[in-house]
Amino acid sequence: MTQRKYHALYKSGELRERAERLNRRLAECDICPRACRVNRLEGSGGYCRSGKPVRVASSCAHNGEEPAISGTRGSGTIFFGSCNLSCVYCQNYQISQGHVGLFERVDGRGLARIMIYLQEELRCHNINLVSPTHYAPQIVEAVCEAIPLGLDIPIVYNSNAYDCVETLAMLDGIIDIYLPDIKYASDKWAAKFSGAKKYVRHSRLAIAEMYRQVGNMVTDGEGVAVRGLIVRHLILPNRLSGSEDSLKWLATALSREVTLSLMAQYYPCHNAGNEPLLSRRINAGEYSEVVDIMEGLGMGNGWLQQLDSAEHYLPDFQREGHPFSR
Ligand code: SF4
Repeated sequence: MTQRKYHALYKSGELRERAERLNRRLAECDICPRACRVNRLEGSGGYCRSGKPVRVASSCAHNGEEPAISGTRGSGTIFFGSCNLSCVYCQNYQISQGHVGLFERVDGRGLARIMIYLQEELRCHNINLVSPTHYAPQIVEAVCEAIPLGLDIPIVYNSNAYDCVETLAMLDGIIDIYLPDIKYASDKWAAKFSGAKKYVRHSRLAIAEMYRQVGNMVTDGEGVAVRGLIVRHLILPNRLSGSEDSLKWLATALSREVTLSLMAQYYPCHNAGNEPLLSRRINAGEYSEVVDIMEGLGMGNGWLQQLDSAEHYLPDFQREGHPFSR
């Protein structure tokens, strides 16, 4: 059994204490930058429409993540219901905004059992928490429950970066790999297309905190990530994702060594067809412009998704079984 930082936090009692502190914050929720101040212990009236029980849309071994995350046996992915953003182009809109399909509602113990299933039965390399921000307290509680059951694989926090530094500080030593998006360099576009105020400031503070905690990506002998920060950047049409500004910020405020996953899979899902600026895929010129910027900044660590990859990555959460199978 690999000894992880979260084991030491569990043994010292710190993990349980953090779970309790985070749980208390649900009574007047300020878990994410929205600070809705609703009582999630008694209802689900905040922006994310999530109460105390955790809604799980799907859990599976996912082979479509970055190679260092999927490895050879897949990433043990848990897709949570709801989100604290409402992107008009969200490819997971069925579960993040639409609430279609059957959600499993679980408590901390139930979420722990899913983690153990992914580790023991599916032999996944890691636990990959997708859209975890609004469930940070429940996740810490679940890790507390899962450790006595044998949890010992890395935990991946796969978020939109609209996270609070105060909440992330509670995850220090629990999360091994941070996998945030950097979606915009403009608050105007973040507000218009994702319903987020001050996304640029919040996301940059959050990513800097993630980097402080875990540093650059470290892999094992098989090239599978065991620790570190991997930043995803989805190129939007018409330069809406502010790629130049965001990549420059990453290279200067963090490091040129930061692992970057440049994503070309943008597809006008959900309501994007109603937004003229977002109603098409990116073109070859837009793609190569961002690749040139990345190379010009000397950012050589990571992955470049090919331009024709959109269809390979669109999930369907209404399908029986695996959302990414065909
Ligand atoms: S986690 Fe949900 S309820 Fe809490 S502040 Fe964020 S959006 Fe509001």
